[in-house]
Amino acid sequence: MLSVTRKHANRPTQILVRTLFSPPTRGRQSLVILGSGWGGYEVLRGVDKKNWNVTIISPNTYFNFTPLLASAAVGTLEFRCTVEPVRRYTPKVSYYQAWCDNIGNANLQIYHHFKHKTLTCVAATPPVSFGSSPPATPQPFSIKYDKLVIAVGAYRQTFGIPGVKEHAHFLKDVKDARKIRTRILECLEQANQPDMTDAERRKLLNFCVVGGGPTGVEFAAELHDLLHTDIAQHHPELAKMARINLYDVADSILGTFDRSLVRYTENTLRRDGINLHLRHHVEKVENGKLFIKEVGEVPFGLLVWSTGLAPNPLISAITELKKRDTTSRVLTDAYLNALNVDGTPNPDVWAIGDAASIESDPLPATAQVANQKAKYVTKTLNKLANFSHSHEDDEQSKNAHVDEPFQFRNRGSLAYIGGWRAIYDRSKAAGDGENTFMNKESGRVAWLLWRSAYFTQTLSWRNKILVPTYWFLNWIFGRDLTRF
Ligand SMILES: Cc1cc2nc3c(=O)[nH]c(=O)nc-3n(C[C@H](O)[C@H](O)[C@H](O)COP(=O)(O)OP(=O)(O)OC[C@H]3O[C@@H](n4cnc5c(N)ncnc54)[C@H](O)[C@@H]3O)c2cc1C
Repeated sequence: MLSVTRKHANRPTQILVRTLFSPPTRGRQSLVILGSGWGGYEVLRGVDKKNWNVTIISPNTYFNFTPLLASAAVGTLEFRCTVEPVRRYTPKVSYYQAWCDNIGNANLQIYHHFKHKTLTCVAATPPVSFGSSPPATPQPFSIKYDKLVIAVGAYRQTFGIPGVKEHAHFLKDVKDARKIRTRILECLEQANQPDMTDAERRKLLNFCVVGGGPTGVEFAAELHDLLHTDIAQHHPELAKMARINLYDVADSILGTFDRSLVRYTENTLRRDGINLHLRHHVEKVENGKLFIKEVGEVPFGLLVWSTGLAPNPLISAITELKKRDTTSRVLTDAYLNALNVDGTPNPDVWAIGDAASIESDPLPATAQVANQKAKYVTKTLNKLANFSHSHEDDEQSKNAHVDEPFQFRNRGSLAYIGGWRAIYDRSKAAGDGENTFMNKESGRVAWLLWRSAYFTQTLSWRNKILVPTYWFLNWIFGRDLTRF
């Protein structure tokens, strides 16, 4: 049911807010999921849709399989292979392509959201305007929930360095991968124009990556594969002029990996001709120019920026939940319930993924952690739904959760490093007392693990067919170098 409510006269704002109520079918409670990433989409997949009235809010109509984005950015895989549609679950669940703007911040002066279990959202697509009327701005709408899962992830960190947002590419979403691929092909086609000087070509073909974490390294490795196979075949002269530069402020790349694997990766990348510039500090970015403290001005055709995570603005704006001082992630207890500012767990709100952190056990911001937390919350929600069904109006049913607190099972970290080689590190899991058969692997064996891990984790049958098909097609026929 959709109702339109005008704000009460004695409240300061006069914003027209539509309120969406979940229909009270068979006493089902309403569950709202914020975000369709590794956390939110997994809850959407697993939650009992017969016993919950589920609504998902996300600006993306899809889930991003982030580990394959670097491959999609250079054409090793097609973009479709890296996404799963949210609409697969409608009309059983309601979906709004929107941003949640406010979950509990009295600053918007609408009303005390946490107390009233209400969210304010704004459509992610602008409303259609007809004829000569000026483009309309989307009106906020509010949604009521009984239970809420916050899984809005994090943003890219730029450290406030001037010009990064305007002139660098990020790799966080399939839309970013598409822009990067277009830019790589644009640089190649421009460099191929007959009126170009070699100096201009070298500038265009200088590909820079800032950030030596797994995303930066994997992108540099995938780009190296593209340059040394398809580009070398079709533009041999340009391939010789192209350079890949990877910058990081730290002493080494891949800070979270085992030291021997880091050394192996650094040697492999250097041997492959990727220039590693460690202990280098970017001061500012201009159109086509990077300014580095240690070396001065560096021209580039493409700059990919991947230097960690910044808090999601929605999370920064929440005032009613406790957050970690250093990262601004929402703190939860070991059952993944968000903590109120006074430190008590909120029985109606869970926070998972990159937006959240367990107070007593901060885990890394990875898909693996987000996915395992989502599975745990799904179990709790399903148990809660069954329990509420059999104990209607029972106070205890409102606080039911899975008896055991959440425990992360470290399955190890993987990174692709180019030329059909990868690294695999599970040494930390061994440190946690888990029985590990293969702690560390590198080279071809690790690459087989990398491919089989991502093939098996791919969610839908459609992508389980598409992913290996594109790997095979592109191996036989080469990557698609067309721009459209
Ligand atoms: C290129 C790349 C490669 C990676 N590779 C790996 C890997 O190999 N292994 C690994 O473990 N991890 C990997 N990661 C990290 C992993 O993707 C993240 O840790 C994971 O996505 C976190 O899941 P999440 O659900 O918290 O957030 P996300 O997956 O980022 O999803 C957040 C969702 O919330 C939505 N959202 C944002 N703001 C709002 C709002 N205001 N209202 C409503 N919805 C909102 C977003 O649109 C998105 O749908 C990689 C990340 C990247 C970028």
